[in-house]
Amino acid sequence: MNSPTSDAPLRFSIPKPALQLLRTLEAAGHETFLVGGCVRDLLRGQAPKDYDIATRALPEQVRACFSRVIPTGIQHGTVMVLLGGMSFEVTTYRSEGGYVDGRRPSVVHFHATIEEDLSRRDFTINAMAYNPLKERWVDPWGGREDLERGYVRCVGDALQRFSEDGLRAIRAIRFATTLDFELDMSTQEAIPQRLDIFAKVAIERTREEFLKLLSSPHAQRGLDLLLTTGLLRVFFPEAMRADFARATRPPNLLPRLALLLAGVSKPQAALQRLKFSNKILNTVLHLMKLQPLPPLEASDTRLRRWLSRAKLEHWEDALSTGEALERREQSLDKRMRALLAQNPTLSMDKLALRGDDIGLILGIPPGPKIGKATRFLFEKVLENPGLNSTEALSQLLRNWNK
Ligand code: ATP
Ligand code: MG
Repeated sequence: MNSPTSDAPLRFSIPKPALQLLRTLEAAGHETFLVGGCVRDLLRGQAPKDYDIATRALPEQVRACFSRVIPTGIQHGTVMVLLGGMSFEVTTYRSEGGYVDGRRPSVVHFHATIEEDLSRRDFTINAMAYNPLKERWVDPWGGREDLERGYVRCVGDALQRFSEDGLRAIRAIRFATTLDFELDMSTQEAIPQRLDIFAKVAIERTREEFLKLLSSPHAQRGLDLLLTTGLLRVFFPEAMRADFARATRPPNLLPRLALLLAGVSKPQAALQRLKFSNKILNTVLHLMKLQPLPPLEASDTRLRRWLSRAKLEHWEDALSTGEALERREQSLDKRMRALLAQNPTLSMDKLALRGDDIGLILGIPPGPKIGKATRFLFEKVLENPGLNSTEALSQLLRNWNK
């Protein structure tokens, strides 16, 4: 069992509440460690997103040690401890029984050791434990070395691990992508052999891993790996023919998703199958509907008209989608920003005259003519934003009515 050195370069100091939590459990006689992603991130000199804790204490014993505990997954041995403004998942050491459906272990055994707990974890780089109070490292699978060499490698036999839980296949590629690591050869080779197990994974779990991959600066490589290993065909065949270099040109997630779906006949059906939230689904379809972009030489009026359709919160994503789609060398970004800096009126409800004002001026009751007049005025204001005043619009309206 090789232990990494205790003078590891932990550039991010571990937050006080995490240390306090460890101290409390240790003082009550329960062996406790930081585990998983946070240990990996600390060793890489990255600030962990959260601190997961593994302990020999049973959930009830953990509860007894703290005043604010939420029993989030008590049957799996997990409770959430709220301490010092932070929250921690504290999980009792587990070892797992067989997997019946390729998804979840059929039984979970407590009373395990930290080494057993680490053995059930997916990759060597995720299977390390660290106790900063005792400066004690537990790294039975050589995670430290793989981290230094930049390898994602299964704990134990890759084929077997991917048979137990199909999600691990896409997680392997997700970590290789986000960390920009290599996939260990036997890990990579096992993926295509267990597509049947991967296909059984709940789509929501797969989708979450996919979104993390697609958000990465190295997403192009991740997509290539998903394609060559066969995973993409299983959960997102619509994206197989996309140009991955083009699709990952925008830095943001939703334009990337829209670009993966460019040219797909039923993008909505694909997004629904992946069970994306309505918000994501509608935004992606919106980005697609805003294509093609106005040409580079388009008038200011035309750009304002497009901005008005795009909406303030989406125009940048719509623009980066289109510029990638059309492989433009030059961007409309500066012009759009300059136009927006003038604070133009981009929606009808910002007109200086409302529907009832228009009705009064024209002396007509509510009806379709008011809508028509509003659209006329809005078009005038898109052409010349300076016209959006009560006087100027009233004048225009009277002329229009003649
Ligand atoms: P991230 O920073 O992306 O959250 P993480 O390592 O914290 O990375 P999580 O998905 O939060 O990843 O999982 C926490 C830990 O639980 C992992 O580090 C790993 O040890 C273990 N783990 C998670 N999913 C699995 C799985 N499907 N099979 C085995 N172990 C897993
Ligand atoms: Mg995590």
